[in-house]
Amino acid sequence: VSGARTPEAAVEVVAIGTELLLGETMDGNGAWLGRRLAAEGIRVVGRSVVPDDEAAIGDAVAVALARTGTVLCSGGLGPTRDDRTRAAVAGLFRRRLVVDDAWLEVVRERFARRGLVMAPSNRAQAEIPEGAVLWPNARGTAPGIRVEDARGAVVLLPGVPHELRALVEDHVVPWLRERFPLRPGPVASRVVRTTGIAESALGERLDDLLPQLAPLTVAFLPSLDGTDLRITSWGSLSSREAEAALDAAEARLRERLGILVYATGDTGLAAVVGATLAARGMTLGLAESCTGGLISARLTHAPGASTWFLAGYVTYSNDAKQRDVGVPADLLSAHGAVSAEVASAMAEGARRATGADCGLAVTGVAGPAGGTEAKPVGTVYIAAAVGSEVAVRLLRLGGDRFEIRHRSAQAALDLLRRRLLEAAG
Ligand code: ATP
Ligand code: MG
Repeated sequence: VSGARTPEAAVEVVAIGTELLLGETMDGNGAWLGRRLAAEGIRVVGRSVVPDDEAAIGDAVAVALARTGTVLCSGGLGPTRDDRTRAAVAGLFRRRLVVDDAWLEVVRERFARRGLVMAPSNRAQAEIPEGAVLWPNARGTAPGIRVEDARGAVVLLPGVPHELRALVEDHVVPWLRERFPLRPGPVASRVVRTTGIAESALGERLDDLLPQLAPLTVAFLPSLDGTDLRITSWGSLSSREAEAALDAAEARLRERLGILVYATGDTGLAAVVGATLAARGMTLGLAESCTGGLISARLTHAPGASTWFLAGYVTYSNDAKQRDVGVPADLLSAHGAVSAEVASAMAEGARRATGADCGLAVTGVAGPAGGTEAKPVGTVYIAAAVGSEVAVRLLRLGGDRFEIRHRSAQAALDLLRRRLLEAAG
């Protein structure tokens, strides 16, 4: 294959745009290309970001070309003076820029159909390095361009994300498949989501299992939601083999971890709780204090929530706790608003006030002020009323206000999930 410098299917990406370096725009195109090509068994082995500057673009593309022989560029193909990618790459290949008459006509007609006259500056977008291949852009005026010589191939793609993606699907991927006929299998991953266990404890539980999953690897991805486990096949397996191996690995993780696993992929805990309630034909009433409506917002994010979500009270003050969900005044004065007794009364009260099958409640100290020696910042009680039982848990959370609120919401949802599963089984 002309220009292929490495036996593996490796490419580099150059993202062009001063706004990317200023941090005003994230290089989403580079990230997307990495994921999309990994699924084809093609590895993005390097990525650089350069400003809209002809010399900087030329240098970055030349270096990337020397390393892999296949370079994909994003951005800088616009009609204005500050879009320099075309000129930079034409210079690198020592080609003149010539107008592609067929493309110029396509663009002119598109404008005419909308009753507009094409701006003279759009003519620049029909210019390609002499001898280059033009890939039509159905969604914009800048086409994809492919230039090759003995050093390899450089592909220019518009920066507008949906335009770039369409060109990659329609033209770049088919071309890369031909260019790398012997490429390895896809990089294929699956995420298994856990919550309610620390990353280190999770690691210990899986210590002996993980080597048995080879050639798959497992990465630990902790966040405020819990720890995700990403299982990955790195290309030694075909697509079908990888799917089967991921299924088997997921089953072994689920078997080992049991109730700690709440979902796979990008499904969130609130969606899981909602689906569980819906499947049981049960309804929920909620009383939140320190989470201030976070749980309500998460639960109602899912379409169809109205079938099982009845109401969520944000009972921030003691008055509201009494008025809205009927927490007895003497309970508040005896134990304080942040207590197991009040959390439990809130959960039962939310259930009673809404007429729901289940009640869920959170009360705690999110900080930064309001902590005491007995109840420091991060002290949070969560309670779930399911069936005849009210389960209450004390959390001692670290982190700042944002983290405490987010973790409290997640823990409360998880308590409800577990109680629903236990009540059924
Ligand atoms: P067009 O000719 O269609 O205008 P272009 O190649 O000139 O495309 P740019 O002008 O560089 O593209 O960028 C167009 C838009 O795409 C901008 O809003 C920019 O923020 C966004 N964009 C550019 N590069 C990236 C990137 N690497 N990741 C995500 N978005 C990007
Ligand atoms: Mg730009």
